[in-house]
Amino acid sequence: MKASTLRRHASIEPKGAGVVLSALHPAYRGARSMFPSRVFDPDEVGRVLKDGHQSRKIGRTVLKGARRGWPIFTLTLEERATCPRTCAVWGACYGNNMQAAERITPGDELEATLWREIAALQAAHPRGFLIRLHVLGDFYSAGYVEMWARAIATFPALHVFGYTARSPFDEIGRAVLELAAADWGRFAVRFSGWRGASRGAVVVDTPADTDHVICPAQTGGTDCCATCALCWHSERTIAFLKH
Ligand code: SF4
Repeated sequence: MKASTLRRHASIEPKGAGVVLSALHPAYRGARSMFPSRVFDPDEVGRVLKDGHQSRKIGRTVLKGARRGWPIFTLTLEERATCPRTCAVWGACYGNNMQAAERITPGDELEATLWREIAALQAAHPRGFLIRLHVLGDFYSAGYVEMWARAIATFPALHVFGYTARSPFDEIGRAVLELAAADWGRFAVRFSGWRGASRGAVVVDTPADTDHVICPAQTGGTDCCATCALCWHSERTIAFLKH
């Protein structure tokens, strides 16, 4: 497959400023998406875990490294509603520019649905599969992180990668940190804003603003996550150019 066909959207090059909400906007104040009609209960969608091909810059199947051939899936939750108020991009969340995305309502129903879908993926892809957490949204409770811990322990083919805006020092973030520390190969979740040498994800205005490796998909070095693999292959902190 030609690499450029992996991604539904043509480019993830920085395009300048996206939509930034004022502090008076109802979505800003109410900790919600700008697009409430795009928030769905799990039983309103066919699957909560979407094929990576449907997400900007992810890709359908890993094409590089030891995980070549593994399918990639994504989970999208409601931005702001599931995120810490301390998020550095609360008003500038890129969900503001993603009207079409299906956001899934968090809670017990989501977790039960996830469990069933992960079990089905384990059966269908026993060699391995990846789930990207979260295209939008974040870990919303310590219990939700615990569900992922149980899933990692139960389904050996499950591998997770992604980012969180939680603080590694609050209850939810600490649970994420412990899970990542226990087995980075299975749960490669980075802390946004962490500027240390490893396991962080930082946003910068220009390449000159950082010594960290810049997401190669933003610099033309690769097409998408499926052709890159850096996020799960390496523990190095990664810099992302502000969109
Ligand atoms: S560094 Fe690679 S794997 Fe990580 S987000 Fe960028 S393209 Fe995807």
